[in-house]
Amino acid sequence: MASIAFIGLGNMGGPMAANLVKAGHTITGFDLSPAAVAAAQARGVNVAESATAAVAAAEVVVTMLPSGKHVVGAATGAEGLFAAARPGTLFIDSSTIDVASARAFHEAAKAAGHASVDAPVSGGVGGAEAATLTFMVGGTDGAFAAARPYLEAMGRKIVHCGGAGAGQAAKICNNMILGISMIAVSEAFVLGEKLGLSHEALYEVASTSSGQCWSLTTYCPVPGPVPTSPANRGYQPGFAAALMLKDLRLSQDAADTAGAATALGAAATALYTAFAEAGNDGKDFSGIVEWIRDRDDT
Ligand code: NAD
Repeated sequence: MASIAFIGLGNMGGPMAANLVKAGHTITGFDLSPAAVAAAQARGVNVAESATAAVAAAEVVVTMLPSGKHVVGAATGAEGLFAAARPGTLFIDSSTIDVASARAFHEAAKAAGHASVDAPVSGGVGGAEAATLTFMVGGTDGAFAAARPYLEAMGRKIVHCGGAGAGQAAKICNNMILGISMIAVSEAFVLGEKLGLSHEALYEVASTSSGQCWSLTTYCPVPGPVPTSPANRGYQPGFAAALMLKDLRLSQDAADTAGAATALGAAATALYTAFAEAGNDGKDFSGIVEWIRDRDDT
């Protein structure tokens, strides 16, 4: 069993750290938020006075922070985590961050003599609680093999996507598909309504035809056809529109840098920006169907 430092004990990091405790590891955690620290402590996480104190004796360090600037800011520099950890520590960054920051994280880890993987997740807070997350992993074969047992304690599917940054690339490509497909399904329901088609009839046809997709059959944006979807509980998240927008913006930054043509990704980003700016950033992202319905294109 390993000594693991866990930095970032928020909505995702808190339950992930708790699952490492359940697997028998010794976890020392740190978060800037006293409430997050207290919740993690109640679930068996030891608390450190600072992030650097948490990593000093660790064999493995997991970071679960909001964005690339938080991860690179915490890890690098004379006062950072890489300098404070013993050489040869394994760093696992599970935050969703931009590919360029992920690559900078790997380079700085290597320069300090550490192994590293980028390992963003899908599955949300429910998956973090139930240890059923999917991990998309970037890094060397050796770092992936070293990280795998810890990721298995927090998730169900672990995919080695390639070298440094490949996990983040897979995450933002997947979520670009998700953002686009949710808008497509929502537009189809709204068009169907205006043509006098019931939600049930469209669902029955599209769910068994070529329109079938996760946004329709698992996360249906209108109430009724899929009773577990957020549409049936007033669009409480779930997966908040603000997080969908964050991932879409990451996809567009990456597309600009890589020179990839993503016209629908750009359109989805613009629509989710308008949806969030209309005061919906805390709603589930599938709530965009209501906003689309209310737009008048005549
Ligand atoms: P969160 O805001 O609940 O948690 C982030 C935590 O990091 C906060 O508690 C904050 O206090 C802490 N923090 C920030 N800077 C810090 C620092 N320098 N040192 C220590 N702690 C610091 O966010 P979350 O929902 O847990 O998401 C974390 C990451 O996971 C994000 O990158 C997010 O995009 C990604 N993600 C979230 C979900 C989801 O459904 N919530 C799903 C998949 C991926």
